[in-house]
Amino acid sequence: MIAGNWKMHRTPQESAVLASKLREKIGSRTEIDIVICPAFLSIGAVYEQIKDSQVRLGAQNLHWENEGAYTGEVSAPMLKEAGCKYVIVGHSERRIHFKEDNQTVNLKAKSCIKWNLVPIICVGEKLEEREGGKTADVINEQVEGSLKDIKEEDLLRTVIAYEPVWAIGTGKTASPEQADEVHLLIRQIVEKGYSRKIASGIRILYGGSVKPDNIAGLIKQEHVDGALVGGASLDAGSFIEIVSECGTEKNRG
Ligand code: PEP
Repeated sequence: MIAGNWKMHRTPQESAVLASKLREKIGSRTEIDIVICPAFLSIGAVYEQIKDSQVRLGAQNLHWENEGAYTGEVSAPMLKEAGCKYVIVGHSERRIHFKEDNQTVNLKAKSCIKWNLVPIICVGEKLEEREGGKTADVINEQVEGSLKDIKEEDLLRTVIAYEPVWAIGTGKTASPEQADEVHLLIRQIVEKGYSRKIASGIRILYGGSVKPDNIAGLIKQEHVDGALVGGASLDAGSFIEIVSECGTEKNRG
C-alpha cells in the first residue's frame, strides 16, 4: 500500500489537477492499494476525479464523536459520506502541534472502525528518544495505547505507519534495516496483545522522506508493507514512480 499525505498543501482546484494526473497514470493499478489524503476542503474535488478509479480517498484527521459542538472538527460519518475509505490518525504533526496523545488516537481509531473507515495509525520516536535508546519503549507505549480495546477482527483492517519523527520532512530516511527492525518490533507488540496471525497480517507502512530513489530498498524489507509519503506525494511524477517501484519490487519478491 502506498498512501500520500498532502498535509496542508494544495487548494481544491490544485488538488483536483493532481488527483486527475494520478488517476490517469495509476488509476487502474490493482496490485497495490493506492490512497491519497488531501486537506479536508479538497476531499470533494478529489473524490470527483478518482471515484471511478482504483485510487482511494483518505482524510488526514477526524474527531471521534459523530457530531456535536466541536468547532472546526470533522467526524467519521461526514468523511464516509464524502467518499473517504481511510483516515490518517495520530500523525506526529498532530501529536506535536495539537497535543494529541495515545488516548485520543485510540478514540479516533475506534470511531474509524465503527464507521468502516480504515485508520492509518501513526507511531514513531523523536530524535532525542532514538539517541537516548528509548525507541522500543516509545513505540511500545504508542502501539499499545493506540490499539487499546480494539477487537482482533478489526485489527486486520487497521494499518500502522511507522514514521520516525526525525525522518519526516527532513530528507533523512531511516535505513531499510532501521525501518525493518522497528516494523518487526511492532509485529511483536501486536502478537503479544493479540495473536501471531494478526501480527503477521496487519499492514505496517514506513513513512519519513520516502522518495523514488529510496523506496526500493525499503519495500524489499520483510516487514515493510508499503509507505506513507508526504512531500513526494505532492509531485505527481514522484508519487507515480514510488507506486511503480513498489509494483516492480513486490513482483520481484
Ligand atoms: C508524512 O507526512 O507522513 C511524511 C512521511 O512526510 P515526508 O515524506 O515529507 O517525510
